Amino acid sequence: MRPDVKPTRRYALIGHPLGHSLSPVIHAEIDHLTGASNRYDLCEVPPEELAARLPRLLEQYDGLNVTIPHKERVIPLLTSLDPRAKALGAVNTINCQLGRGHNTDAGGVRPDLGDVEGARVLIIGAGGVARTLAALVLEMGCKELLITGRSPERVERFVADIARGLERRRVHSVTPDGLGELLLRREGAFDLIINATAAGMWPAVGELPLERGLLEALFDAGRPHVFDAVYNPPATRLLLLARSAGLRATGGLAMLWRQAVLARQIWEPDNEALGALITPSPETLGRLARELWRHFGQRIVLTGFVGSGKGVVVARLPQAFGLGGLGVSDLDDAFAAATGQHSPAWQREHGEARFRQMERQVLDELLATPGSQVIATGAGTLIQPGLAEHVHDRNALVVWLNAPLGLILERFRPAFERAGAGAAELREQTERLYRQRLALYREAADLMIDAGGTPDQVARRIAHALELA
Ligand code: NDP
Repeated sequence: MRPDVKPTRRYALIGHPLGHSLSPVIHAEIDHLTGASNRYDLCEVPPEELAARLPRLLEQYDGLNVTIPHKERVIPLLTSLDPRAKALGAVNTINCQLGRGHNTDAGGVRPDLGDVEGARVLIIGAGGVARTLAALVLEMGCKELLITGRSPERVERFVADIARGLERRRVHSVTPDGLGELLLRREGAFDLIINATAAGMWPAVGELPLERGLLEALFDAGRPHVFDAVYNPPATRLLLLARSAGLRATGGLAMLWRQAVLARQIWEPDNEALGALITPSPETLGRLARELWRHFGQRIVLTGFVGSGKGVVVARLPQAFGLGGLGVSDLDDAFAAATGQHSPAWQREHGEARFRQMERQVLDELLATPGSQVIATGAGTLIQPGLAEHVHDRNALVVWLNAPLGLILERFRPAFERAGAGAAELREQTERLYRQRLALYREAADLMIDAGGTPDQVARRIAHALELA
């Protein structure tokens, strides 16, 4: 073999069911960045076959990654465990030659949490990732850790399990109602809020780990850093709400990347090039995010006042997202195509109630189109009662192009000029409608984007908030 050609190693992910996994893409990217060419397989191993198949897999591969449902059950089948895997009772990486289990999740997420020393932390969730994160924030010196979740008994058991000895003073469980009471007592301020549940994970992207009103009250109370372990979509609904509230919000994609690089360091201890990759570059994260958008139909609905620029901006999104294949559409155009008439004319003929019904039907058809897509809606669409929830139930997120009144009035100037003597009245009507609708857009939206500037600038702002730039 030539000295500059590195040997091909064989790695695999074992789990069940695996579906489309990002791991092969991440490891191919690591190979690309280090000039290596390894092989990474996906091995479906049903739980009942794990014990019988593991010895052969250990022979066949240099390294294995382990995912649900094997992270705990693989432990008795291994020769040894590193201290972190032992403490967490979960393995995500195996050195096949040694039959040794490791856990790289905690090392992967540490840089995302910032400075936790002395912090008050809230973790939502009581599963495997919550356990890793709870151990980590305690180790990093948090002042107090509260755990909440939708199943209070599971949360109680989880807390009893992790909070032994002295930790009992630092770790407590709290129900979502209990969080409400803390807020009333002005004790709801957290420095860090972590989502360690599957809520918001594709395809159910409209879900939140706690009710929106409760989350927003917690955001207000402590202006916390929000970390979401979910990485698909790259920017979850929780992150978008946190960003719209002006908070620092970090997603799970960098954690996923780092645990893969740390696994490679276990498998290739002499490969010094890996050290430089621990912190993913924005380009790498963007590539991974685009990969998720290419493989999983992600859906965004754009809303905003007349003149906020939805129609123009939507056309710029494929380029801003770096996704040539992104589907973009305009609800008004789809409505005209479906009914043979433009919406105002149809509305005049059939009335408001039937129009909104028809509009919802056309929107549903667009939302059911395969592939990732962004749909620009009419200014009055998303503010209809229940429509934002309807969109969330159809696994789509709502982005509001928020144009300040001054900008709208500026964009309306030609219309006011054409109105001649009626200009003042038209202007007053516009201002009134704008003020009425502001709260409704805010309520409907997951992400608020400043609509000022050129359409390309607005498109880039959206791409950035969705982690696609
Ligand atoms: P587990 O199945 O062990 O735990 C899931 C937790 O989420 C449980 O507390 C469960 O509550 C809760 N939960 C699930 N669905 C919902 C929902 N719709 N609303 C509220 N709570 C919910 O999973 P893991 O801990 O292994 O993984 C959790 C998430 O973390 C994954 O879905 C994944 O997105 C992410 N993850 C990220 C990684 C990364 O590197 N960024 C690595 C691994 C996972 P209950 O007991 O009531 O069901």
